[in-house]
Amino acid sequence: MTPVASLADVSKRYGATTALHPTSIDLQTGVIGLLGPNGAGKTTLLRLLSTALPPSAGRIEVSGQEVTGGHAARVEARRRIGYTPQEVVFPRGMTAFGFLDYIAVLKEWKESGARHAEVRRVLALVDLGDRGSMKVAKLSGGQRRRLAIAQALIGAPELLILDEPTTGLDPEQRASLRGLLSGAAGTVLISTHQTEDVAALCDRVIVLDGGRVRFDGSVPELLATATARVHIGPTASVGAVQTWKTGTGLVRSVGGQPAPDSSVVDPSVEDAYLLLRAEQRFAEGVTP
Ligand code: ADP
Repeated sequence: MTPVASLADVSKRYGATTALHPTSIDLQTGVIGLLGPNGAGKTTLLRLLSTALPPSAGRIEVSGQEVTGGHAARVEARRRIGYTPQEVVFPRGMTAFGFLDYIAVLKEWKESGARHAEVRRVLALVDLGDRGSMKVAKLSGGQRRRLAIAQALIGAPELLILDEPTTGLDPEQRASLRGLLSGAAGTVLISTHQTEDVAALCDRVIVLDGGRVRFDGSVPELLATATARVHIGPTASVGAVQTWKTGTGLVRSVGGQPAPDSSVVDPSVEDAYLLLRAEQRFAEGVTP
């Protein structure tokens, strides 16, 4: 199957900092989660794919257009990309409807009837159908976050790129966004610190660390890396990566040598992620 987007030996340097080492990834249809600690290179990768940032080396293709090729191909690719950066700065004084209408004009929706219908569609998708006439400045933080997502949904892009979309949303809003993203056609790439979102939503997980891909596979494959490595018992496992006393009074340990009388429990995405990170730090010679 032809990928919706691909990176071939793409790297990015900012002066002396290498934010992304040479990386090759193909993105197919589905929801793909990007996990990694702060500074891992997640935003850099998303900005490269969104064409907001040129790579230092390598080739990026979106919908068959080589975005690193030239201006015309980049413009063509941008028509198929929706992108919500971590921080969206809204123009002052606009209503929610007015803002989306303005973005739709920039996205070349010329006919006003169709454009307004599209604006109403995306407002409803993010549960802001009754907030169109409100000034953006009067919306709550969570509502502004959803408005930022709505602008990326205009025109139902083939590639939807969302940088930490669930930050600032309450549990209901997060669940609602999950519903929306799981129903989206095409390819959705989200960066997140919420491992539960990855477990609940993603067909594929990519873990970035230090500008390199450390894991790329399905959620069950990620969970399998932590099989029989998480325990619960009266005392902590020796050399565990993380331990904490649960509400039952028993101690849950991720990694390490289990204490006697402890039993194996099913790992979560967070457990698998913590173990991957610990292995990474160990390989780099960093002691916990
Ligand atoms: P993440 O999104 O995973 O937190 P980023 O992609 O923002 O990671 O950053 C990756 C690395 O690149 C970090 O070391 C960060 O400090 C550096 N970096 C990001 N943007 C810039 C920039 N504009 N100028 C210099 N360094 C940057």
